[in-house]
Amino acid sequence: MAERVALGIDIGGTNVKVAFVKHDGQVIAQESIPTAPERGPERFVSSVAETVRQLASDNHIDWDNDVLGVGVGIAGFLDYKRGFVEESVNLHWFDVPMAEMFERALGKPVRLDNDANVAALGEVWLGAGRSATTALCVTLGTGVGGGIVIDGHIHRGASTMAGEIGHIQVKNDGELCNCGHYGCLETLSSATALVRNGLAAGLAGEDGELTAKGIFDLASTGNATAQRVIEDMIHWLALGLSTGANLLNPDIIVIAGGVVNAGNALIEPLREAFSKAALQRVARACTVVPATLGSQAGVLGAARLVLQVAETA
Ligand SMILES: [Zn+2]
Repeated sequence: MAERVALGIDIGGTNVKVAFVKHDGQVIAQESIPTAPERGPERFVSSVAETVRQLASDNHIDWDNDVLGVGVGIAGFLDYKRGFVEESVNLHWFDVPMAEMFERALGKPVRLDNDANVAALGEVWLGAGRSATTALCVTLGTGVGGGIVIDGHIHRGASTMAGEIGHIQVKNDGELCNCGHYGCLETLSSATALVRNGLAAGLAGEDGELTAKGIFDLASTGNATAQRVIEDMIHWLALGLSTGANLLNPDIIVIAGGVVNAGNALIEPLREAFSKAALQRVARACTVVPATLGSQAGVLGAARLVLQVAETA
């Protein structure tokens, strides 16, 4: 193989996605395996290592010569400089020297960052945020994740915590958040919060289980309760986004997560609410768009962590 590639690893709560990616973003080979975090980080790392070496050999990628390095995205609070997972609540892993473990198992340099940051980098590199100089990317899922990409690079701040927009406190008398504070954006505008508020308002799913998509479906058929619950979610989201935008003056805000599949039913009213909530000059310079890479953003962004270092070396 003439051109060298990066390996991206995106560690989710259920599955781990791995992909070999070229400098132009083309994926040479990819695979997804169960995360099974309960087996512990050691066994997890060795099983991922086995999978990627096999994937390389199946696709005629010479591990020693063709692979530049490894980028890893994982949910949780990290120390980017040390490559430590300090706290991954959904995997129940704490103080894990993950970059070093992967380096030992794979014999390549490893860069570790959080899932929202790598997804943001992926969207700016190949997705909805292309051509943006200052991008704020927000993922609406179980929580509300955020990543900031400035001039093509993740902005991490002093302790890899920049972009935690989900914990902007938007409601004074709001509910308790996982972080210990009250009224965080995450408690009001995540997909989980939307469902919780839908249930509290008396909505029910078609087959018993209410989902965020189900609430948007109900709203599209004229269900006033569903419409009100969505309006409420959008109201708080616009407030959180405007706070972030007034601080960053981004040219783009990318909204990711399953809820984005609702398309214009989410994006149009969000744009309107955002343009009222943010400073006028900030809102005028900024477009709010849905993400385009879906669940590929993380693994592509993880690979990009390595590729962009190679490009500037
Ligand atoms: Zn919080």
